[in-house]
Amino acid sequence: MKYCFSKRIQKTPKSFIREILKVTQQPEVISFAGGLPNPSLIDTEGILEAAETVIKEDGRNALQYSNTEGYLPLREYIAERYRKRYGLLISSDEILITNGSQQCLDLLGKILIDKDDAVLIERPGYLGAIQAFSLYEPEFFSVGLFEDGPDTNELQNIVSEENPKIFYGIPNSQNPSGITYSREKREEIGEILSDTDTLFIEDDAYGELNFTDEIFEPVKKYLPDLGVMTGSFSKIISPGMRLGWICAPTEIIDKISTAKQASDLHSNYLSQRIITQYLQTNDIDIHIQKIRSEYSNRCSFMTRLMDEMFPAEIGHTSPKGGMFIWLTLPQNISSQKLFEKAMEKNVAILPGYPFYVNGGGDNTVRINFSNSDEDDIRKGIEVLSDIFADTDKI
Ligand code: PMP
Repeated sequence: MKYCFSKRIQKTPKSFIREILKVTQQPEVISFAGGLPNPSLIDTEGILEAAETVIKEDGRNALQYSNTEGYLPLREYIAERYRKRYGLLISSDEILITNGSQQCLDLLGKILIDKDDAVLIERPGYLGAIQAFSLYEPEFFSVGLFEDGPDTNELQNIVSEENPKIFYGIPNSQNPSGITYSREKREEIGEILSDTDTLFIEDDAYGELNFTDEIFEPVKKYLPDLGVMTGSFSKIISPGMRLGWICAPTEIIDKISTAKQASDLHSNYLSQRIITQYLQTNDIDIHIQKIRSEYSNRCSFMTRLMDEMFPAEIGHTSPKGGMFIWLTLPQNISSQKLFEKAMEKNVAILPGYPFYVNGGGDNTVRINFSNSDEDDIRKGIEVLSDIFADTDKI
């Protein structure tokens, strides 16, 4: 049977990660390929208690339809947290709750991108954003990343020449590279975009997983009218509850709300109620501190082993937060071959080339550290270093 699919969906690639995860999720595989939060850090007891309270005390409302923007006390909580963490003055009218922050990217694509519009993302860039925006058929441009953030000369040139509708970036612990933008880069981006029409979409999925004492102020602080932030409860409470949010000027929220009504009416209301109850009765900062210190330990353990065991010409980033380390191999080494060799030894890594919208990146690798314990990290890094010792084979 030949189905007449739209050109749009025919041109959109399947998520490479979801495909790879099918082969790497066998129990015998040590997987550095995925991006899962560590299951031991999900507070099942606390969530159970919150769910029980909500359903027992207000079940008939919590299980009913609700409004598109989301549960007001939750939106107020998020606005207040922006104020406390960053001194950002946001009103609850500027917050809309989504089914995971991934949905923000689809909705933003829907309301902003027409076919062939210029869309700028980081190089390497988040695969989920590439996929979400691809459905709206833009022309992608990419800006390179240094250890302290985007190449601002390249950014300036692309912005002047292409006038992109949006620049999508992840200033805190970027997926896939683990890079965090410096304060200077954030200010520079603010300056470059300030007299343009380019919206800066600031994906802050990892902002709370900051391993340092430094406060990284959002780019939105320098671009109040052009800054749109997206946030998520996935990495700090639970990804399965599928709750995130978008923070944007009210004119944008209004259009997002229309697009969301057409998509799914509103976000899972029961999840919104349970998470609000959870936040009201638990100290989320203590919980986040636990996640930060666990991930920070795993990250430094892994980078230390890489320094000890990998040949000097294998470069790695030194993340200040998040869940990923990025490897740069010598040009002649293929990360796809490394993936195949490592899988023969039951170790999974993620080749980096799908994160490049304009080609390249064949010698790059994304490594996840949040989902493996120290034993597995040691075994996995040993396997990779054995393969690197015999580079003729890759
Ligand atoms: N943005 C980034 C940068 C991510 O890494 C992820 C999760 N992989 C998401 C958004 C989507 O997360 P969620 O939909 O669970 O909030």
